[in-house]
Amino acid sequence: MSYAPVRARLDAGELVVLDGAIGTEILRREVTWADHQLQTRPELVRSIHSSYLAAGADVISSNTFQLSRRGFMQHFKDAEHMRHIGASGLETRWAELVQAGVRLAQEARQAAGLGDSVAVAGAMTTLEWCFRPDLAPSGDAADAEYRELASVFAEAGCDLLLIETVNSVREAVAAARAARAVGLPCWIAFVPDEAGNLFSGETLAQACAALEPLQPDALLVNCAPPSDIALGLRQLVRHSSAPVGIYPHIGRFDPPEWMFTDEYPPPRYLELAREWLASGARIIGGCCGTTPEHIAQLSTRLRM
Ligand SMILES: [Zn+2]
Repeated sequence: MSYAPVRARLDAGELVVLDGAIGTEILRREVTWADHQLQTRPELVRSIHSSYLAAGADVISSNTFQLSRRGFMQHFKDAEHMRHIGASGLETRWAELVQAGVRLAQEARQAAGLGDSVAVAGAMTTLEWCFRPDLAPSGDAADAEYRELASVFAEAGCDLLLIETVNSVREAVAAARAARAVGLPCWIAFVPDEAGNLFSGETLAQACAALEPLQPDALLVNCAPPSDIALGLRQLVRHSSAPVGIYPHIGRFDPPEWMFTDEYPPPRYLELAREWLASGARIIGGCCGTTPEHIAQLSTRLRM
């Protein structure tokens, strides 16, 4: 079980370095996002994982952001319409892509000879668009969908679930329950607004309280600019009994892709990461726009 070294580090109050962006790194390497490149360009995805491993990440996450049954269904009127006009195999493609995503991360770890010292996180996110809590499905539907998704990740053999860019308490609880049901450690990362609250209007204090009975293994904030995200981090440090982490994005969202900016080159990112560490963050990585060079700064200069 590859989560044990990560748990030991967190228990000792030591830093755990999470990887950086994959989706935007695919773009930076000048190809497109189609099918997450899991089936058409597996070597590209594997090489990005390898770069993060070489950069010293303790946890690498699968390139599976927003892959779900619902994600495919959204393109159609209903299941019958999908069968009628869609390509064959669409009903199970999401699960095949999730499995492929976890496998590529595992293969990169094996190729690097890192064995159990690095954990592979299965990356999943909100069932609907992560910046739109108003679109989220109701409690029962969310529970069932998360359970199905988590079980595919568990079968694929990931070491923990990283539930990212979560925008409401209800969805965080549904995701954490699903992780518990399949027996995987879970990290839940919330997207905070400039005031350090969730997009649903709820507070991170409320989120921490609601998750407490489920004993998440870590709570984090992600996918907000460094200038916005520190307030969210402060809330988590104050209210979470679990270890706390942070991985902001850098650059600008330019739908459906990403615009890279030079506001936070790796040395500047390191300076900020020192502040996050001093504030209490023990898991630090990068979201959209970050690169292996950013992660290398963290792993070589930030460890105590
Ligand atoms: Zn992001």
